[in-house]
This record gives sequence, structure tokens and C-alpha cells, in this order.
Amino acid sequence: MTSQNEHERSTTMNSASTRSVDVVVVGAGLAGLTAADHLAREGYDTVVVEGRDRVGGRVRGAEIAGVPVDAGATWVAPGHTAVRDLASRLGYEFTPQFHQGKGVISFGGRRRVESLTALAPWSMLDLARIMGVLQKTVDGLPFSSPWVHPRADQLDSMSFGEWLTSKHALQDTRKFMNMFSLVHWGAPVDDVSLFNVMRYIKTLGGIEHMLSVEGGDQQDRMLASMYSLVSRFAETLEAEVIVGSPVERITTAGERVTVEAGEHTIQARYVVVTASPVHRSTIEFTPALPEPHSGLSRSWRLGSLSKAFVAYERPFWRDRGLSGEAMSDDETVFLTFDVSPNADGPGILMAFCDGRGFDAYDEGERRRRVMEHLVHLYGEAARYSTDYTDFSWANDTFAPGGPNPAVAPKAWTSFGRYLREPVGRVHWAGTETADETSGTMNGAILSGRRAATEVAERLHADR
Ligand SMILES: Cc1cc2nc3c(=O)[nH]c(=O)nc-3n(C[C@H](O)[C@H](O)[C@H](O)COP(=O)(O)OP(=O)(O)OC[C@H]3O[C@@H](n4cnc5c(N)ncnc54)[C@H](O)[C@@H]3O)c2cc1C
Repeated sequence: MTSQNEHERSTTMNSASTRSVDVVVVGAGLAGLTAADHLAREGYDTVVVEGRDRVGGRVRGAEIAGVPVDAGATWVAPGHTAVRDLASRLGYEFTPQFHQGKGVISFGGRRRVESLTALAPWSMLDLARIMGVLQKTVDGLPFSSPWVHPRADQLDSMSFGEWLTSKHALQDTRKFMNMFSLVHWGAPVDDVSLFNVMRYIKTLGGIEHMLSVEGGDQQDRMLASMYSLVSRFAETLEAEVIVGSPVERITTAGERVTVEAGEHTIQARYVVVTASPVHRSTIEFTPALPEPHSGLSRSWRLGSLSKAFVAYERPFWRDRGLSGEAMSDDETVFLTFDVSPNADGPGILMAFCDGRGFDAYDEGERRRRVMEHLVHLYGEAARYSTDYTDFSWANDTFAPGGPNPAVAPKAWTSFGRYLREPVGRVHWAGTETADETSGTMNGAILSGRRAATEVAERLHADR
């Protein structure tokens, strides 16, 4: 991998400010690294250009009490074989998410300890009813090209919140679904299209799967951190990775595409852009992208989700029979998990925070808000922390937002079909473009493979 300065040195040594390769990949997240890996292994000269000063994109590392943690993507489901294959190729192992004991739920300031874990409250009748109706609607959605569903326009004309109202969802059900919406799209139920929610549930294998730890989307995590895995992946690539160089312009003229990123001008035969739809709009395309592609970039904004980590000498909640899973309608912390490295300590609670009640505050106030709510959820012992760190995705300086686009009503059916439709020599990847496990690391890898195959076929045909 080459930092911007090192790369400037190497281009100066070669006295060439313009280079020529087969493929430029924009973005060094899992989609971009995978696409580059495949193309380079097939013998194509490939360069990855990343705007951030690090690889990983929405996989980002952090450290608390000397323990590596993930400020971005964390969990891997049993069926996420693309991530699992990558991990075993690089010699990394997963560990089960701690999930023993009772959960805590706090709605309207009333705290109660659940007999089951907090993530299994669908014994509540109304929630079970709403989840059943939602899953039934999802079952009729085609896996690929969901916009061909006969009621696609109708389902995309209302927000998830409006749908919950139309089904007379009770207040606690609505609060639960709001938590579900915040953690998946970084936006409350009123800000996301019902169709977007349905498509996402479809691609991830069902709502129960999305909510489950054992056998579900939160089953495993990596003690060394996912970020460590992705950094290692970048180091092993045969393709060059340039970081700290935002791509500003992509110009197609005849059979060449020119990619301009600060000091770097790279000519290629094809380009794979892996930036999430909203960030594609930060690149000036010549000729300009067709209207539906620009509409996609304008309307598929990323949500805002933040994470805080609090360390303790030991995971004291385990001694009280608690799993560390809590769910809340608090305006700051809405979900917690135990991400301690082991039972002896340090104990680490990860708190998902709603960007609206978190991102605008300075670190002191953010910490105060998180700590206050952890004391509410876990009692006085939660006050005696040894370390704290947090990360707000909406405040990231480059490519802000996450985890996924909070697609508003009408934007899916208007623009969704253009997510991965190539424009001339420009191809698209990124987790949003995947049919299977879209919105996850697994989807990102699958999308990188798909885009690499598309481009390799064209390169082959050009010979
Ligand atoms: C808080 C959070 C929690 C998550 N939890 C999970 C989880 O538990 N499990 C899971 O599977 N997934 C999770 N995800 C989602 C997961 O992180 C993403 O689906 C996946 O990492 C996306 O990879 P990608 O390569 O498609 O996109 P990205 O990782 O976003 O990569 C795109 C890259 O393009 C770069 N870029 C953008 N514009 C330009 C430009 N103009 N020039 C150069 N580079 C550019 C960006 O900087 C970025 O590095 C989570 C995400 C977040 C934010």
C-alpha cells in the first residue's frame, strides 16, 4: 500500500505524473479491495484509489482499554460465506457474540429485565403480529429486480412509519421498529421507504434472521477486529492501493478513461466505482452521468449512526445474569452489546447511539449522555468505567454517513434499477449494488466480485 506522500515520491522517481493501467478501482472498502484482488489475480494491471487516508471504508478500527474494537461493521452471519472465506484465506478466526443471560428493555424511562435476551422480545403479541405481516409482504418480493413487484410503486410511496400506523402498531412495537430502523439505516421509521425496508429484509434472509444473534446476523465477530482483517487484505493485494487521494474527475474519451485524484492522473480502459451512491455525486463525470444515475446519487443519502464504547475492569453485568444486550427509546443510546474480549476483563459495552441525540455534542457531553444511560440500564456499577471512545459516522470528514442509505419514499422505484447499470466504461460496485446480503460486508465482497467479472469479460473481449 502506498500513502499519498510515498506515492508522490514514486511518481516523481518515475518522472511520470500520468500513468496507464487496465483498471482503476475507486474506493478501498471491501468491495473495491475485492474487485482489485480479482482483476489483479487475473493479470490485469489494477490500481485502487481511496479518498480516505486509510483502507476499509465503513469498516473502521478503534481501541479501548488496549482492546481493538470495530467502530464500523462488526458482525458476520453464518451464511456470510464471502467474508468467512476471506478470513480463512488470511488466517483469521471468528468468535461467537456473547449472548448468555437476560436482556434489559427501557421504554419511556421504565427499565425492565427480560426473561429472554433483549433481542428476542417477539413473544410480545403485537410485535409478533406486525413482524408476521411485514415478513409476509416481503416474501412476495422478487430477490433480484424488486421493482417488478406489481405493488412496487404503492409500497414505495409510503414510509415505514406510515405503514406501521396503517397496521395500528402499538406504541412499544413502533419503538422496537424504530430501533430496528436506526441500527440498519441510521434513520427513524418515518424517514425510510417501506419498500426499502422490505427489500433489505428480503436480501438479508428475513426479519428474525436480522434480529438474531445465534444463527442470525449478529452471530460472530472478530476479536482482532474486522478492521485488522481488511487492512491485512489490502496489504496482500497484488494491485497498488493509493490512499488519501479523493477522485475528483472521471473523463471518458474514446477507449480511455482518465481518473484524476489530486496529484494523480491515471488512464485506464475501465473504471469500477465502489463509493456508496450518495458519494458518487462528489465525482465530476465527463460526459455527465445519465439523469437516473445522478438522481440515484442525489436521493440515496446515507443515514447517521454512531457507536460508543465504555470499558470496565470486568464485564460486571454477567455476574448479575445479564447478557449486555439492552434496547431503549432513549434519545442517545438505543442498543447495547457486550464486546468484552473475555470474562476476565476488561468488560466492554458497545452502545449504538442515535446521531440526532449525539453527533452535535462535544466529546464531554457525548460521554456524559452515554454514561448516564448505561447507569440507568445497568445500575450504579456502570458509573465506574476505565475508558471511553466513540465514533460518529455522520461526522466523518470524508464520505460521511452510514451504515446504509436511508432511502426515502419513491427513490427506490425511481432509481434502484440503475444501481449497477454500467455507464460506458464505468462500472459500479459497493454493498448497495448486491442482490444477496446487500448492506453488509458480505454484500460488498459479492458486489466486488460481480463488478470484477463484468470488467474482466470486457477486457477479454477487447483483446
Ligand atoms: C456503524 C456501522 C455498523 C455496521 N455494522 C455491520 C455489521 O455488523 N456487519 C456487516 O456485515 N456490515 C455492517 N455495516 C455495513 C458494512 O460496513 C458495509 O456494508 C460495507 O463495509 C460496505 O463496503 P463497501 O466497500 O461497499 O463500501 P465502503 O466501505 O463505504 O467503501 C467505499 C469507499 O469509497 C471511498 N470513496 C468514496 N468516494 C470516493 C472518491 N471520490 N474517491 C476515492 N474514494 C472514495 C470511501 O472512502 C470508502 O472507503 C456497518 C456499517 C456501519 C457504518
